[in-house]
Amino acid sequence: MSTTYETDVLIVGSGPAGSSAAALLSSYGIRNMMVSRFGWLADTPRAHITNQRTMEVLRDLGLEAEAVSVSSGQNLMANNVFCYSLAGEEFGRILSWGNHPLRKADYELASPTAICDIPQTYMEPILFQAASRRGTKVRMNAEFIGLVQDENGVTATIRDRLNDQTFTVRAKYLIGADGARSNVAEVIGLTMEGRTGLSASSNVIFEADLSRYVQHRPSVLYWVLQPGSNIGGIGAGVLRMVRPWHEWQAIWGVDLDKAETGITVAEAEVALRKLIGDDDIPLRVKSTAVWTVNNMYASNYAVGRVFCMGDAVHKHPPLNGLGSNTCIQDAFNLCWKLAAVLKGQAGVALLDTYSTERQPVGKQIVTRANKSIEDYPPIFEAVGLLASADADEANRHIAARKAPTPEGKARRKKLYATIERKNYEFNTHGVELGQRYTGSAAVVSDGTPEPAYTRDPELYFHPTTWPGARLPHVWVEHRAKRVSTLDLCGHGRFTLLTGIGGEGWIAAAQAAGKTFGIEINALTIGPSGCDALDIYSDWYRASEIEEDGCILVRPDHHVAWRAPAASTTSTADLEAVLQTILART
Ligand SMILES: Cc1cc2nc3c(=O)[nH]c(=O)nc-3n(C[C@H](O)[C@H](O)[C@H](O)COP(=O)(O)OP(=O)(O)OC[C@H]3O[C@@H](n4cnc5c(N)ncnc54)[C@H](O)[C@@H]3O)c2cc1C
Repeated sequence: MSTTYETDVLIVGSGPAGSSAAALLSSYGIRNMMVSRFGWLADTPRAHITNQRTMEVLRDLGLEAEAVSVSSGQNLMANNVFCYSLAGEEFGRILSWGNHPLRKADYELASPTAICDIPQTYMEPILFQAASRRGTKVRMNAEFIGLVQDENGVTATIRDRLNDQTFTVRAKYLIGADGARSNVAEVIGLTMEGRTGLSASSNVIFEADLSRYVQHRPSVLYWVLQPGSNIGGIGAGVLRMVRPWHEWQAIWGVDLDKAETGITVAEAEVALRKLIGDDDIPLRVKSTAVWTVNNMYASNYAVGRVFCMGDAVHKHPPLNGLGSNTCIQDAFNLCWKLAAVLKGQAGVALLDTYSTERQPVGKQIVTRANKSIEDYPPIFEAVGLLASADADEANRHIAARKAPTPEGKARRKKLYATIERKNYEFNTHGVELGQRYTGSAAVVSDGTPEPAYTRDPELYFHPTTWPGARLPHVWVEHRAKRVSTLDLCGHGRFTLLTGIGGEGWIAAAQAAGKTFGIEINALTIGPSGCDALDIYSDWYRASEIEEDGCILVRPDHHVAWRAPAASTTSTADLEAVLQTILART
């Protein structure tokens, strides 16, 4: 007879999605178990661009400093470089990830955290270890085989790959964080839209000291445009910095059938020499793999007691660097809701809002990443790469773009414009940070219309306290420390923010907390005498309410509801809001 383990939440997968869900649930005091098919964490450094929203989740978990300590900072991500090869001619660069002077302020004003580069091989252990330290029970070499669910829970069958025996886990809820080939999503029959396996790319990890070619133009991505580099894969060759400047990942398009067979070290070395353009640089290939370009998202994220997150529900190429970021943010959305339901504070309908809120985000990032691929051919055309299938002819055409001719002039103009368009891949601050949850039962409207975007919504983040948006960050002073408004919130609790004259809301928060059996962290922000000091009066400008109004913030930093001013029925108002959000029957 097989052993049965019991837990509250079973998490399948220990990647960015699974490990962050485990770390969050354990931090919220929820019993959970995580199983993973392999005996190791990420063995290649796939994800790396780590955006501010993800850093905010890590900050909430108390892991920001550890993450920063293994990161390459924003300054090292300054450029995206387009070149014939690393040693060859450069076609142009674009200041990226908030490094343009005009964009620096946008990024700095938006968040207490900084975007940075953390290879997946460094990120996963941080999340995984935090989860284990905080109570997650982990079984590695344990493969999810199937599940049945009933009205009280889920029974999952797991195969122990060390002895080929199966065991079962009885859980109240199950999270499928088992990646792009998710077995859990398949077993529960999630509907997927789009296609996978559109093309294939090699992923070669290698060591080489490339400092002489990169130090003067620091970047995490060097895009190689030369005959052959635009075939297959993501349509360009890429050298990606893993560790400055001696460990690298190379991406080069390969035939789709290589997704099954893989590539040899010899094949990898041929591609590397083309990308680097210097045959004398010593290099050592550490590993080779092949991955496919996907364009697919799930139409819904859950069936009954089973929830899927991460690549299981959004599969897309790495352009824009949104994959692992979105995995971690999916977990931040679901885990406080699971905790509230498991603690008996909320009704199960709260869990439906996970799919309502996160599915549009998944669809958006899959679409964005695939659109970013489409922005490359116009650059190739302007460079001259597409002029001929013959490499020598194409090379002549590439050189002709510098000619003092009307045609050369037109091509240069086009090149500058097409490179500038890559802001939609390398500076999409709005996509990275600007999610607003609309149409969700876990957000209560204050009756005001959604604020219009005054700048491009993909490129620019628009802070607002409109219900459903993430709480704006400003610096305030709390207990003689400079903290972010986001630091005052989160940590698994609801927070109510008010100001001078908001005593009624503070009392309402205390009363509602008792009624619903939840902790509501209520505090005033304003001049001295308030709990947090609005020293720069930035909160006054950002809050969009009167000082005696209030903003109710969910544990994931999103605004649940706001009241423009004091109310004579503050307790009833707040309790009605919580009744709706917590789906109490
Ligand atoms: C070249 C490249 C570059 C990228 N760059 C970025 C970037 O800059 N920024 C970014 O945010 N993202 C990036 N990504 C995407 C990122 O790597 C993925 O989005 C992320 O790894 C997905 O995380 P996940 O936890 O959903 O799944 P995975 O990381 O795939 O983890 C799946 C987990 O499930 C386990 N598992 C699978 N099947 C089973 C089973 N049956 N039973 C038990 N366990 C199972 C696996 O062992 C693993 O632990 C990049 C990807 C690639 C290929």
